[in-house]
Amino acid sequence: MGKHQKDLTIEKLMKKIKSYITDSDELNVIEEAYNFASIKHFGQKRLTGEDYIIHPLNVAYILTRISADYETLSAALLHDVVEDCNVSIEEIEEKFGHNISILVDGVTKINKLNLSGTTEALINNQRKILVGLSEDVRVIIIKLADRLNNMQTLFVHSEKKQKATARETLDILTPIADRLGINSIKQDLEEYCLRYLKPLEYYDIVEKLNATKAERDNSVAKMIENVSDLLNKHDIKHEIKGRSKSIYSIYKKLEKGKRFSDIYDLLALRILVDTEQDCYQALGIIHSKFRPKPKRFKDYIAMPKTNMYQSLHTTVFGVDGQLYEIQIRTYEMDRVAEYGIASHWSYKEKGSVKAVMQNEMEQKLQFFRAIMDLKREQDNPADFVNTVKQEVFQNTIYVFTPLGDVIELPSGSTPIDFAYKVHSNVGDKATGAIVNSQIVPLDYELKSDDIVKIITNNNSVGPSREWLNIVKTTQAKNKIKAFFNRVNKEENIKKGEDILSKELRRQKISNDEFFADEKLKKLFADLKFNSLNELYGNLGSGKISITSVMDTYLKKEVSKEDKILEKATKGSQKQNASNSLVGVAGIDDIKINLASCCNPVPGDRIVGYITKGYGVTVHRMVCPNVASLDERLIEVNWNTDSSKLPTNILVRSSSDNSSLINIISKAANNDIPVRRFNSHKSKEDEAIEMTVLVDNKEQLIKLMNDIKMISEVTDVERLIK
Ligand code: MN
Repeated sequence: MGKHQKDLTIEKLMKKIKSYITDSDELNVIEEAYNFASIKHFGQKRLTGEDYIIHPLNVAYILTRISADYETLSAALLHDVVEDCNVSIEEIEEKFGHNISILVDGVTKINKLNLSGTTEALINNQRKILVGLSEDVRVIIIKLADRLNNMQTLFVHSEKKQKATARETLDILTPIADRLGINSIKQDLEEYCLRYLKPLEYYDIVEKLNATKAERDNSVAKMIENVSDLLNKHDIKHEIKGRSKSIYSIYKKLEKGKRFSDIYDLLALRILVDTEQDCYQALGIIHSKFRPKPKRFKDYIAMPKTNMYQSLHTTVFGVDGQLYEIQIRTYEMDRVAEYGIASHWSYKEKGSVKAVMQNEMEQKLQFFRAIMDLKREQDNPADFVNTVKQEVFQNTIYVFTPLGDVIELPSGSTPIDFAYKVHSNVGDKATGAIVNSQIVPLDYELKSDDIVKIITNNNSVGPSREWLNIVKTTQAKNKIKAFFNRVNKEENIKKGEDILSKELRRQKISNDEFFADEKLKKLFADLKFNSLNELYGNLGSGKISITSVMDTYLKKEVSKEDKILEKATKGSQKQNASNSLVGVAGIDDIKINLASCCNPVPGDRIVGYITKGYGVTVHRMVCPNVASLDERLIEVNWNTDSSKLPTNILVRSSSDNSSLINIISKAANNDIPVRRFNSHKSKEDEAIEMTVLVDNKEQLIKLMNDIKMISEVTDVERLIK
């Protein structure tokens, strides 16, 4: 565990930095940053009694552990000058450039936040930290180092302050360090937290470890020798380190109910080799000599943790029959394990650090992006707080696809959440789930390490609305909602297609005719649509009526009607001698229909209405359904005055059952068949709607007059629907 260095100097720091930064311009910037900060902090003291500059020096020194780049190191040296020395951020920018000023500004901002306090304030601040993170992840890395140095000197504070700082660090900062994969800083933070939060437990573990240290070191040394000989025999180049388990991880195991003796017996070593292949080979060789403990093998090379950690883990019965936990990894994997997100910094060429960082963020900070999305969606701080807590800080589970990919989900997630996280299509087509080879219901609650396989069916009609109540993640909810929006759209299109084809059939317009390229183009232009689907969609959703579509369409197609109208006006004197009931002046062969709305009978004044492809429909002149359509009206005449034609009348009478019998007998007396009647009764009144078959208007009028004579009847009229 790294310690605070109260005698740290710039020379010592620079020596460490020069072990991995060689560019003299960069080294100069770091030294200038130090000079500037040491002048500004001159005369200021820390609570420890040291000169203030010792703190920024230590923060920078901590950052050399992860080979931080020169901008990060410079910003670390400058991180408190804006806050404590009245230096403006503009001055920093002017002297050290934009990148460094952004970092200093970011750290200054998040240091102003009061991270402790009420729950809401606490989480609000977490959010702000994360916002700071969004600008440049190096801000949060400096913050972690800053906090570590403050923890290293926490002894100067009151117990209350110590506990509060430790609590806050454990709640907010170590989870971030974990996500960023920066183990070397994370472990130190955790250990200091434990020391101040649970001093009894902490010192108990330390004591027990010390008591057994010599013995353990001896055993480990023996085991290292054995393993090393074995690997040498097989020509595998390697390096082996004894490894002490972190006090915090021991504490966590004790907390889970393990006995100390079970843990400290677990001796640990780490093998570093050159290639991934060597990792597996070394593992095989070790297993051939030392019996592995069942169920302890983990392949994090094939299945890296989400923070990119890779390694092989196994536990074997080693020398003296003791258990040894062995990690096998390449040097590169080791670097990632210790540095996390910062692991590639010093490898990159000058100038590309920022690009690399951006790329790293893309790969590793999926949790962070999820937060940013949530922030946009949820304005309610309480909701945000809960979601952040659930989805990020505390209850995260890691499950696997059958191929071994890791999927990160909030705890309480179901196979449906998993499916949508994998792909929208997988979610939409999901019909079942298999978890660890067992079929489970879709509302099954997933646990960490579950291997989840989603059963999909291409014929599936899609998600159920019920799923909205089951899923845990916002992502799944949104995708399910999106599916239903899409389906509604498709349904409308289908409905619109039906409406149009029905209308075309009704009007006897062939598809070839309607869908002719030219005509369709014209129609789209007139209606301002771009596609057939748009037309269908608008029809289906009722945004446009079929009447207006047809009107628009037909308006461009008036030539035929024009001809008919022309003929009709010219030959208006000539009577059509056909056998049909109604003749259209001047036209021999035309289909005639009597309108069912007003049911004209011979003797009624009538008018024809030209329907494209459907002939002429004959209405009564008084029918309101034709009033507004005069340009397509045509003169028609009755050819006959006797034919049993249906027409509708409405009779009103005071409520008395006898009226109906009287009415029917009047019809019978006039030799008029009644085809149908419908009676609507109310308290004072009865309305009888009836269809009668009459030869002509004269006969109808007589019937109506007869009915009027019935004492209970108050009114009789012809009905137009
Ligand atoms: Mn500081």
